[in-house]
Amino acid sequence: MEEKNFICTACPMGCKLIVRMEGDEVVKILGHRCRKGETYGRQEAIAPQRMVASTVRISNGLHPLVPVYTNGSVPKRRIPEILAKIREVQLTAPVTAQDVVIENVIGTGVDIVASRDMPAIS
Ligand code: SF4
Repeated sequence: MEEKNFICTACPMGCKLIVRMEGDEVVKILGHRCRKGETYGRQEAIAPQRMVASTVRISNGLHPLVPVYTNGSVPKRRIPEILAKIREVQLTAPVTAQDVVIENVIGTGVDIVASRDMPAIS
């Protein structure tokens, strides 16, 4: 039996979780104080998810880069592919916060959106 250790980030309590696995199957979760922690531990052990934040190049803007983020969590193992897609993008100002920069990035069902306005300089 394998044990994986995580800190639950579902609330500020930060419970220390122990997830016991047999192969790919979760057999026991210890250390959680609520159901959210149990769900978090199971997800983290089997298929961890993360939000991603990065920047995209933009021309004719007040700054050369505009911050972007995923509007949902994505599989952690696919983050390098997502960052590669983000690096391919070149926007032109103006951009408004919440504008979709990449729709359904690499088929995850999650969009990359701008997190701030970027006005044009001309
Ligand atoms: S297990 Fe529950 S109480 Fe503990 S950190 Fe996670 S969400 Fe918070």
